[in-house]
Amino acid sequence: MIPQANPGASYRGLKPEIDAAVARALNSGWYILGAEGRAFEAAFAGWLGSTHAVGCANGTDALCLALRALGIGPGAAVATVAHTAVATVAAIEMVGATPVLIDIDPLHYTMDPVELAELLAHPPAGLPPIRAVIPVHIYGQAADLDAILALCARYDLRLIEDCAQAHGATWRGQKLGTFGAVGTFSLYPTKNLGALGDGGVVATSDPALAAELAALRQYGWRQHYISDSAGVNSRLDEVQAAILQVKLAHLDAHNASRQAIAGAYDAALPAHIAPPARRAEGAHVFHQYVVRVADRPAVQARLRAQGIGTGVHYPMPVHTQPAYAGRVALGPAGCRASAVAAGEVMSLPMYPELTEAELARICVALGQL
Ligand SMILES: *Cc1c(COP(=O)(O)O)cnc(C)c1O
Repeated sequence: MIPQANPGASYRGLKPEIDAAVARALNSGWYILGAEGRAFEAAFAGWLGSTHAVGCANGTDALCLALRALGIGPGAAVATVAHTAVATVAAIEMVGATPVLIDIDPLHYTMDPVELAELLAHPPAGLPPIRAVIPVHIYGQAADLDAILALCARYDLRLIEDCAQAHGATWRGQKLGTFGAVGTFSLYPTKNLGALGDGGVVATSDPALAAELAALRQYGWRQHYISDSAGVNSRLDEVQAAILQVKLAHLDAHNASRQAIAGAYDAALPAHIAPPARRAEGAHVFHQYVVRVADRPAVQARLRAQGIGTGVHYPMPVHTQPAYAGRVALGPAGCRASAVAAGEVMSLPMYPELTEAELARICVALGQL
């Protein structure tokens, strides 16, 4: 069976380097917030093009820390999308703010800026003032940042980019995560940059914000045992930070492999299945390669019968999930395009370690769909 994602292959592909890094971290005798974490943060910021990066426990916490550092909490609304990992919406509620969910542009699956403009021009009665926007650069491709940045400037909104699926993707030549006040990244094992456990990182080029993020992730400490702000415990450990330094050095090559696999899929798809749309303004790093099929269960079963795994990201938009249905605020479009997409999207196997033989097998099967 060719799995849809394969974090084990990612470890095996870099095993000697990763094992050496893990041994180094273990032998150091220092396991939380030390030299490995600082080295990873400096390397990540340098790679991204921001001045600061602050490691944390996971991508959900990265969003929470960003919101808290920007002073977004109870009494504020935050606009985001329903077509995302539930973590994006959960993080907004974790800090006590009110999410409001905008629909997607069905071609690129990212926040529809026309609807965002409508929402900002006519905010619904009863909704707290909208203070921030979290576009999700889903599947490895940018949301329409020109339009979203213009609205943030016009309405004085903080922009937090959810880059959990977009490590290395660009907009007009600049890496995602450097456009807003803060960019947040998950380092979950299957992401384009993945730890071998949980991890997250927050990037900013504002030194005061970076200092606040670093304090908030450890009880609000700026010096030991003195909490200047009401913080949390959300630290990236030294073993993961050591592994991530190895993975980061290979990230650009790994993204290039993902793009090559995407190109092979494009060429193999039958005429009735459209390849994913690419935006002209930036590079797509293919966290997922997603196509739409009306008869998804049947298509998945046919591929499974040939030993090819597929995934669905995600089967239910956030506003229809039991925890949120009927109580989460929606934009004027009612997230209808998100609901349609959730019923049709299908993700093909996508990881840099996919072999030539496996890729060829998948392409033959795609051509027969
Ligand atoms: C994975 C993901 C998250 C959450 O990251 P965790 O590390 O699992 O907490 C948030 N947003 C998006 C878009 C994601 O894909």
